[in-house]
Amino acid sequence: MSLKKICRVKDTLVFRLTGWYAGIFTLSTLMAFLAFYVLMASVITEKRDEDLIGDLKEFSAILSDAGMDGIEKEMALEAASDGVDQIFLRLLTISGEELASTDMSPWKGVVFDATAMEKQLRNGVNHVLRTQKFSESNRQARIITGMVGPDLIIQIGESLEEDEEFLGIFRNIFIPIMGIVIFVAAATGWFIAGRALTGIDEVTQTASRIIKGDYTHRVSIKNRGREIEHLATTFNSMLDCINEVFRQMKETNDNIAHDLRTPLSRIRGAAEMTLTTRITDDENKAAAAGIVEECDRLLGMINTMLDIAEAEAGVADMKWQTVDLTELLFSACELFEPLAEKNAVKIETRFTTGCLARGEPRMLQRMVSNLLDNALKYTSPGGTVSISVFPEGKFIFIIISDTGTGISEKDLPHIFKRFYRCDQSRTLPGSGLGLSLVRAIVISHAGSIDVKSTLGRGSTFTVSFPRLMH
Ligand code: ADP
Repeated sequence: MSLKKICRVKDTLVFRLTGWYAGIFTLSTLMAFLAFYVLMASVITEKRDEDLIGDLKEFSAILSDAGMDGIEKEMALEAASDGVDQIFLRLLTISGEELASTDMSPWKGVVFDATAMEKQLRNGVNHVLRTQKFSESNRQARIITGMVGPDLIIQIGESLEEDEEFLGIFRNIFIPIMGIVIFVAAATGWFIAGRALTGIDEVTQTASRIIKGDYTHRVSIKNRGREIEHLATTFNSMLDCINEVFRQMKETNDNIAHDLRTPLSRIRGAAEMTLTTRITDDENKAAAAGIVEECDRLLGMINTMLDIAEAEAGVADMKWQTVDLTELLFSACELFEPLAEKNAVKIETRFTTGCLARGEPRMLQRMVSNLLDNALKYTSPGGTVSISVFPEGKFIFIIISDTGTGISEKDLPHIFKRFYRCDQSRTLPGSGLGLSLVRAIVISHAGSIDVKSTLGRGSTFTVSFPRLMH
């Protein structure tokens, strides 16, 4: 494997997870081993100490039964049976003077600590236990120094060679086993981490395919654990959303192209006529006026589209302030009164004063104007448009209902889409953008809009905004 490849593997999440997994596993195994090792060593020492204390008692009994000769004989016997390099025995006076001993050549430098002995005796214990290292012979011994009779001390030292050998065997077995266990743990960790992260790989691959233009590809949701499944589902939903946005953008583009074509064709036709046909000054003026009118219509559409985009984006520079919706509706009604009179439509109002909300007054005015304009536009002479505003709980409700043409069940889910116009309205002026703007404004003000309508009987638009408490 090249150095570059190794570096790349080193940076992968699988590698890091495996590293952590193996590291934690090694540490905990080591700790468990150490604890076990210490426990075992202390049990062995305890057992040896018990033996030494037993020996001390035995020598006390021999002294009282067979006297000094008996003890010396027993000392010689012990040394002969265990070997002088495994055991030593010394008889001393309380002041440390040696009376008899076995072969002490492997145990040069053995110490008798009279102070420790005295301290123990004061505490009512007749022996001292300690471990001494003999650097010359490179061995260790566990030594008991204890009273066997009045003014007579015996010192028995036993080599710890066997114990060390036993612990050594344990160490020698454990280290390779631990190596194997760590290797198996790392391999398992690598495998598990790799398997757990295959879902992420698939998400990456899907993203790459999408970059290359395959928008239909999706991450398969297999049995890979809840988190990965959740990631895959969320990623797929995000792709569906993006696709839907693309589809809507395409639809909007098609609609824009379609809706711009008609006025542009009319503008072109009028301009062409003034160029190619002999026409009077008055006809020329009329053609120019027609062009200006169409241009205004186009500009109006473009401006509304920009307003929708602005409202949908949430607009950072919206100048939010406290808006009295009752006053706002009152002014709007005053403004539309002449049009209502002209259309012979009656406006009925039911206003509760002091309906306050937070918002951008210009946007809210546009929203109300669009709803009122539609209500008047789609209501035949003799009909009624009712407008009410009132607070209820944490919300302010604005209800605008009319006794106009109504909207069919088929059209109702689409009326808030850009450029959507119901069939029966196509003869009337309009662009199909008004309600899209209304909805965008309502949503940008954290409000909601609902419509109920029956074809031929009328429509009711209900808008609600969070209420601003006094
Ligand atoms: P338009 O410029 O066509 O009025 P809108 O976006 O305001 O565009 O409305 C979309 C469509 O919803 C309209 O074409 C019309 O068919 C229908 N509509 C909206 N308001 C009403 C209403 N009050 N009564 C009947 N139909 C309505």
